[in-house]
Amino acid sequence: MRDVHHFINGKQVVGTSGRFGDIYNPNTGEVQARVQLATEAELGAAVDSARAAFLGWSTTNPQRRARVMFEFKRLLEANINELAELLSSEHGKVVADSKGDVQRGIDVVEFACGIPHLQKGEYTEGAGPGIDVYSMRQPLGVVAGITPFNFPAMIPCWMSAVAIACGNTFILKPSEKDPSVPLRLAELMLEAGAPAGVLNCVHGDKVSVDAILTHPDIKAVSFVGSSDIAQYVYSLGTSHGKRVQAMGGAKNHGIIMPDCNMEQAVKDIVGAAYGSAGERCMALPVAVTVGKKTGDEFVERMLDAARTLKVGISTDTDAHYGPVVSAAHKAKVESYIQMGVDEGADLLMDGRGHTLQGHENGFFIGPSLFDNVKPHMQSYKEEIFGPVLQVVRAETLKEAAALASDHQYGNGCAIFTSNGRAAREFAAQVNVGMVGVNVPIPVPVSYHTFGGWKRSAFGDTNQHGPEGVRFWTKIKTVTQRWPEGDEIGDQAFIIPTMG
Ligand code: NAD
Repeated sequence: MRDVHHFINGKQVVGTSGRFGDIYNPNTGEVQARVQLATEAELGAAVDSARAAFLGWSTTNPQRRARVMFEFKRLLEANINELAELLSSEHGKVVADSKGDVQRGIDVVEFACGIPHLQKGEYTEGAGPGIDVYSMRQPLGVVAGITPFNFPAMIPCWMSAVAIACGNTFILKPSEKDPSVPLRLAELMLEAGAPAGVLNCVHGDKVSVDAILTHPDIKAVSFVGSSDIAQYVYSLGTSHGKRVQAMGGAKNHGIIMPDCNMEQAVKDIVGAAYGSAGERCMALPVAVTVGKKTGDEFVERMLDAARTLKVGISTDTDAHYGPVVSAAHKAKVESYIQMGVDEGADLLMDGRGHTLQGHENGFFIGPSLFDNVKPHMQSYKEEIFGPVLQVVRAETLKEAAALASDHQYGNGCAIFTSNGRAAREFAAQVNVGMVGVNVPIPVPVSYHTFGGWKRSAFGDTNQHGPEGVRFWTKIKTVTQRWPEGDEIGDQAFIIPTMG
């Protein structure tokens, strides 16, 4: 059986813990490989390698660091098909979605190519008599990223590309469920010209996460995953003096107004709710319809649209979505469907028990649609993370907006309307981090910033964009004065040359 190794100091390293995680083929339900789960000492070896690489890398001029990013981007583009197929084989999402996953990562690498400009400080001439003030953004040192299973290319790139471009050296601890693409990213970063130790990949579970959060030489940690773990990571990491950003779960609401383009809204939401089997933190699993007529029309059309969806294996180019990631996750999603039934919501379409001929043991779930979901229901309050759409009926926009604002999660939300004023007010007032106006999945482009509110994010600095550069650097401000008469003879006129 294939083993997935660590990548430390520029080469693959066979783990010694004797502990492994199973990597499934979600299409067949079979174990296809094993990933090594690191010990604290193995994590320590990766930190040593990153620490040794830091001095050289952090003093490499920003233009040269940018050139490594340009080459990394070129390599990702050249390998996008191979990466997407590898990603689908472990995650289960269809290959077109996996290409999107890699492409979103490439977008952030492209953003990081602008680091010479992005990392520039500020300068004030003459802040006082003969006094100038300038600031510089310096890298933090050895930093780490802990990533979830659902975007194994994009999320490691969100963190590592920006952090490394800023001059930090990096430890990536990817999800143990689909670790092969993150390992390839580390290999490609080396091939792109980053010295050994600049990007290390250590596989593992809670043991390696705790080792990261308590290691004295790791200065900052970025985490993306479920909320309870995000909160734990934030608490433990900050209590050990680290800078931590920890993104958590989500339950994004789409508000369907009576004046929306209903045909377009349904088309958008069917993709946003069921695409990638609902395993996206920016999926739209809740539709809030405003007014009875709107609700009835939406449900009728959505039912028709959901019936046309094809669930297939991840290499089926006609499939809208593939299996979920694991048997345990399938069981969890199906238990939430049962919870919705028990709580009294109307299950109009039941995706449980979905099987595919020839792939009877695959982790497939058909599309499910609930109507008349109520805010007090537990199945509404919690994240399901599967191909399940819940329709909540509201009477007014105010009532609908309050649902999104009051929910424990605040990652994203969307409004579908043709009324610019209503949309503008909604976007300004809703208590959520990312808002779409007639855009179902409002993931910001790489040069803006990604992050939710409430239990969707702990810490106050977002991913990528200028906020990412701020997270991965610390600012130093210099106030300087050169009093007259201090010049030492001709030395004052010697202009140092760059080596
Ligand atoms: P997860 O929380 O199970 O795992 C995330 C990471 O934490 C993994 O690397 C895992 O190894 C580690 N981990 C798991 N259990 C741990 C424990 N007890 N102690 C320490 N570390 C532990 O999340 P997942 O199932 O891989 O990913 C799905 C979740 O991620 C969903 O909740 C989804 O909404 C969320 N997500 C959020 C965003 C965002 O930006 N807000 C983006 C993508 C995914």
